[in-house]
Amino acid sequence: MFCAKCGSELKEGAFCEGCGAPNLSAPTEGSTGKGWALIILGVILAGVGIYFFLTASQDISTAQQQGDWWLIMNHVTLSDLYVNKTLGIVGTVLGTVLAIIGVKKVWIT
Ligand SMILES: [Zn+2]
Repeated sequence: MFCAKCGSELKEGAFCEGCGAPNLSAPTEGSTGKGWALIILGVILAGVGIYFFLTASQDISTAQQQGDWWLIMNHVTLSDLYVNKTLGIVGTVLGTVLAIIGVKKVWIT
């Protein structure tokens, strides 16, 4: 890479050694920080999503085995459980996408 302003060869640093212009190819602090924030957010979201999905799946199979009284005892309906299961899948997918975007921001410039 060469400096866009003065044409001297750019090293690892954030600024050109020749003229002090910002090195546009160097990763900036801001994008790395945002990348990490996205990774953390994505992992949490995916984790919550997987938890929702697994819990709802478990409850659906229990409800199917135990019958209506189990649903009444637990103050839920079968459609609530299916909504939770769907939200779980959506959260997992969204979280994974966010984490991938974050990884790209941190490691690929
Ligand atoms: Zn320069």
